[in-house]
Amino acid sequence: MLSYPSLIPTALERVKVGRKSKAPEWSLTSKSPWVVAILRLFANPESKNLRVLATVSGVILHLFRWAEACPCHGHLDWAQATFDQRRAWERCPMRGRRAPDMVAGVFGDTLEAHLAISAVELLGLLPRGLDAASRAILLRDFERAKDHLRFVFAVRLQHWDQLPCLIFGAAYHDDEISRLCVELGLVEPSEHPRLKLLKTELREEAESYVTGTPLVDLPLLREYIAAMKFIPTAERSIEGEHAKVEGNG
Ligand SMILES: [Zn+2]
Repeated sequence: MLSYPSLIPTALERVKVGRKSKAPEWSLTSKSPWVVAILRLFANPESKNLRVLATVSGVILHLFRWAEACPCHGHLDWAQATFDQRRAWERCPMRGRRAPDMVAGVFGDTLEAHLAISAVELLGLLPRGLDAASRAILLRDFERAKDHLRFVFAVRLQHWDQLPCLIFGAAYHDDEISRLCVELGLVEPSEHPRLKLLKTELREEAESYVTGTPLVDLPLLREYIAAMKFIPTAERSIEGEHAKVEGNG
């Protein structure tokens, strides 16, 4: 189940702590005026629009984390992990390599799960004394934001549902999905090098795999599929390094 800690409740928690104290520690000692300004905005009951925005931003942050995590450790409960476990997970070589998951629809499932959670979070964040009409407007805006996210991701990620990208689903851990992707790759007329290899040198093993032969008995196809697990799909860290080289980071 989804287990990454949310950044937004953490910020609100600091506000709550500040409210209990006559001299909130964060407001006196923080060296970042931006942090202080944001926390003051959250503390203001009039910041209800900001809370909707923060809830939507929280969903996007969770998706960033999912995309940059690894398929093997990303689903584990970070809140319960020890320091050494977190360090090991953060150094996993599979981080940001989600091509098979993208084809299998895991991203879409993750998006919907976080949208459902965020709706509950938003209801808890809205001021208690908010009148029904204002609440209805905020929830309507939130629903529009959710629909916009769904639309943008559907458009930008549609290539994962089509060949040649769809062939990366052959590396997904579910045999049924894996075999279906190989089968679709075999009948695809595309001359893409990756598909061409499947339809020529690997055709005999690929056809055998589709009809039920275990991958462990098909050495050439096994190597072909294993390589697809390592395709990088999250490039933010690489772009960040480029920015430093260019002097913008
Ligand atoms: Zn891992």
